[in-house]
Amino acid sequence: MNRAEIIRLLGLTDPAEIEGLRRAAFDLTTERLGDKVHYRGIVEFSNICALDCHYCGIRKSNRAVERYALDVEQVVESALWCAASGYGSCVLQSGERRDARFIGFVEECVAEIRRRSVSATLPQGLGVTLSVGEHSIDTYRRWRRAGAHRYLLRIETTNPALFARLHPPEQHLASRLAALNDLRDSEYQVGTGVMIGIPGQTLDDLADDILFFADHEIDMIGMGPYLVSAGGAMVEAGMMDAQPLLSLACKMIAVTRLALGDVNIAATTALQALVPDGRERGISFGANVTMPNLTPSQYRKNYQLYDGKPCIDEGRAECRTCLEGRVLSAGRRVGWNEWGDSPRYGRRSDHPPAAPS
Ligand code: SAM
Repeated sequence: MNRAEIIRLLGLTDPAEIEGLRRAAFDLTTERLGDKVHYRGIVEFSNICALDCHYCGIRKSNRAVERYALDVEQVVESALWCAASGYGSCVLQSGERRDARFIGFVEECVAEIRRRSVSATLPQGLGVTLSVGEHSIDTYRRWRRAGAHRYLLRIETTNPALFARLHPPEQHLASRLAALNDLRDSEYQVGTGVMIGIPGQTLDDLADDILFFADHEIDMIGMGPYLVSAGGAMVEAGMMDAQPLLSLACKMIAVTRLALGDVNIAATTALQALVPDGRERGISFGANVTMPNLTPSQYRKNYQLYDGKPCIDEGRAECRTCLEGRVLSAGRRVGWNEWGDSPRYGRRSDHPPAAPS
């Protein structure tokens, strides 16, 4: 798919043409990945962050947020609940810290989760994705040896001028790119993604983002709408209206599916912040992964990256029941007790995902 065609598809406004795009992406997903949606239970284990991304509600300059950090037992307990609930994989996400204590903490959590989640239904234990930002290649390798095998690091936008407007001067697009390469060299399944509908972002930018995913052989995509955060530094720039933003986000999922084929694509929580059935819509436009929230309820209100984050008053058991209904209503079934790895990763690597070390 060339750039002009991607831009044309992202710009569709006719409902019948959008439905044609949705159908094509949904059918290609079925053909290349089957009819299952895989869960990654997400544990937002700390909102302590050393960075100051202008869009983010947990950036370090937001003094209104009460900071928290779970301990190893709390993280592992959440992951074991996830395994016992049949989710197959978990994601550990947090604000960004690069100190030795944090690095050791993540390593210990990963190793404990892999070791303690082995069972008859999960003979290799729980799949573990990390989403904890930019680190050195040595750190990535250390966590890989501990048993993490997927890593999500969003590039946020591939437009250098836009990236510079979203971040303080000490944060660079080039270092995000280098980190993605380091992750690939460390043999992770590499995930990235962008925010959609950032003030000042164009369809050309989004088309370039999709071409970037293809050029860099990305295995997993986690992208979602940009939503304003009262705790961020971009309130005055506003955000797109909910309906056009939802439509654009769904078209991004569909076009990414058509352009990339057998990658994993997440229906992210931010879609559900726009409309209650946002994640189902993402699935019906070609997403095949979703991330139920496992963060203990008392901490959820303090991990609000954007305003209107859904499910912050719910417990993890309620999320489980609600989400299966959502998946079924989107015409899919849940891949219980499976890792649901990206087939693209399997094609590009001789190395099967890590067995417990
Ligand atoms: N610090 C790690 C990192 O940057 O990869 C992980 C946590 S970070 C909070 C996770 C993601 O939240 C970011 O990559 C960003 O895309 C998303 N995010 C933050 N603020 C957002 C907003 N206002 N709207 C939509 N997504 C947002």
